[in-house]
Amino acid sequence: MKITIIGSGYVGLVAAVCFADSGNDVLCLDVNKSRIRKLSQGIIPIYEPGLEELALKNIKNKRLTFTSNIKKSVEHGDVQFICVGTPQSEDGSADINYVLSAASNIAKYMSRNKIIVNKSTVPVGSAGKVSKTIKEILEKRNLNIKYSVVSNPEFLREGTALKDFLYPDRVVIGSSDKSSTKVMKDLYKKFIKNSKSFIAMDPISAELTKYAANSLLACRISFINEIANLSELIGADIEEVKRGIGSDSRIGNSFLNAGCGYGGSCFPKDVAALQKLSKDQAGMDLKIIKAATDVNNNQKNILYKKISKRFSGRLKNKRIAVWGLSFKPNTDDMREAPSIDLITKLISKGASINAYDPEATKEAKRVFKGLPIKYKNNKNDCLKGADAVVIVTEWDDFKDIDIEKIIHLMNNPIIFDGRNIINSTSINGTLIEYHPIGKPVIA
Ligand code: NAD
Repeated sequence: MKITIIGSGYVGLVAAVCFADSGNDVLCLDVNKSRIRKLSQGIIPIYEPGLEELALKNIKNKRLTFTSNIKKSVEHGDVQFICVGTPQSEDGSADINYVLSAASNIAKYMSRNKIIVNKSTVPVGSAGKVSKTIKEILEKRNLNIKYSVVSNPEFLREGTALKDFLYPDRVVIGSSDKSSTKVMKDLYKKFIKNSKSFIAMDPISAELTKYAANSLLACRISFINEIANLSELIGADIEEVKRGIGSDSRIGNSFLNAGCGYGGSCFPKDVAALQKLSKDQAGMDLKIIKAATDVNNNQKNILYKKISKRFSGRLKNKRIAVWGLSFKPNTDDMREAPSIDLITKLISKGASINAYDPEATKEAKRVFKGLPIKYKNNKNDCLKGADAVVIVTEWDDFKDIDIEKIIHLMNNPIIFDGRNIINSTSINGTLIEYHPIGKPVIA
């Protein structure tokens, strides 16, 4: 099948590579010309495990090509996937201007039947808006071309995006056109486990499904973080509590890790967008979702509060080592990362920062531009002369600690573990002082 992917970011690139690898002829468009130039030379601009290898394979066999020429991209694909960003507007709603601009471009140049697929995360009613945008332009062009707009929300997670796309739990298709649904089923048939994991519904339900799924996951994270904070106050251990509740088959263990809050390109903005759309479109306040956001905003401050308390508020000239900058492991994505709140606050209180991340340093330098941060090439260099180390992202590299090295390299061997990744029994009886989340301090 001939496919065009509009927007070659995290979602667009992963979708493009996976569709190309399953035998389709895929052309990727992006308005960012430098990104397209790099991609055409086989330079993959984001870090995602396995992506580069699979992309290069399909670039080589010419099933995956790139362009910044809109007309060419519209002519190419019978199916046009819109995978552009939908950033958060100031009022919390999702900004769908990039989506509508992509739709206008399709309508300006299309000359035969097309299926237009909204893969971007968009508010309820966006499929209708895309359809209207295309209709108006086609009418102006005096053309009577058949097209249909399908909603196909994406559930991949950065860090495991290829696996999520190639072996999805489910594929959701929102469409009121049976033949388009069939085309989508054919396109995804190599990826879906069985007929139950292909879920067809109306476009509005599909659009709401995406926001509801992310909001539920955000609620679980905020729930366990609130129980973790309670555990600290009453002397319980959140890891034990998690074992106790997660083993219930009705509950399960996923998204029940206590930590320093969620970030990323999706949860914060999707939760805000759901709140906004429910208020605007239905006059309804989503109270649980508001609570999840409030708890998360507090949780993103929890490491700062612990550090400040430990040093009695005297952070001036304290050197703090930060392990992990990306919002989660196996990605270089820094969007809404808890490290941003923490580092900015520490610097504002006079602390000096050493920072290390296995993949996100380049992106961090862009995000923290102008801030006096010493970026280090490995986790041990980062520890040298530090008064404390803070684990903000749970990269595998940080799970195994060398107690002797920590004691030798640091000024004060104090660890703040914002992800509870260190086995606390290995700390017992050493000179290290250990501050986890929702568990007793070891000192
Ligand atoms: P991104 O910012 O990484 O990529 C978007 C790309 O679209 C950019 O390269 C941009 O230059 C390009 N673009 C913007 N307007 C364009 C246009 N008119 N024509 C062509 N290209 C255009 O974004 P992303 O993280 O891939 O997210 C895309 C969408 O998918 C968002 O709605 C997001 O919420 C959703 N989503 C993201 C994830 C994730 O983990 N990143 C997961 C599921 C869903």
